Amino acid sequence: MQELVSKRAVLDEVRTSVAEALEVDLSTVTADSSLTGDLGAESLDFLDINYRLEQAFGIRMARYSILDHAEEQFGEGIVLDENSRLTAQGVNLLNARYGENAAHLKPGMSMDALPPLITVQAMADAVLDILATYPPTCRSCTKSDWRADGTQISCGSCGEFPVFDNGDDLTVQWLKRAQEEGNIL
Ligand SMILES: [Zn+2]
Repeated sequence: MQELVSKRAVLDEVRTSVAEALEVDLSTVTADSSLTGDLGAESLDFLDINYRLEQAFGIRMARYSILDHAEEQFGEGIVLDENSRLTAQGVNLLNARYGENAAHLKPGMSMDALPPLITVQAMADAVLDILATYPPTCRSCTKSDWRADGTQISCGSCGEFPVFDNGDDLTVQWLKRAQEEGNIL
């Protein structure tokens, strides 16, 4: 884990970005708020929120959902059936990824069950995962002198920004680990 930008600072920035994108009062946006379920976010709002987070942190959020990536990694018909309904493995996958928020899911549910699982905290966790991938040294000056100014990490010696893994790469890495551990498929 990186300790340059605190969990608290990440959560606060995500709450602010969500409130601004959805034009809702910041006090209504809590860590547990579901973006679609509680705050009324629609798919275009996710693009706006992701853009704001990318600007704030200098990162790239995932463009595709975990179910999209799972279909690509494991093949079609494994996590979703031919009618785009969750299979038992699909439920296992979302349980492993989203914990108790996904405990109510059952095989046969529509993949529309996925967006309500995305909470403000889930987005903050995704940002933290990306921030944790900053490289050991700066690619410009080769020093190891990362500092954080607000939510942006940069090189204290030359000002260069680190190149992080992007959100889609991290989702694929998570799926590969889950597959190796053998408790999903
Ligand atoms: Zn540097």
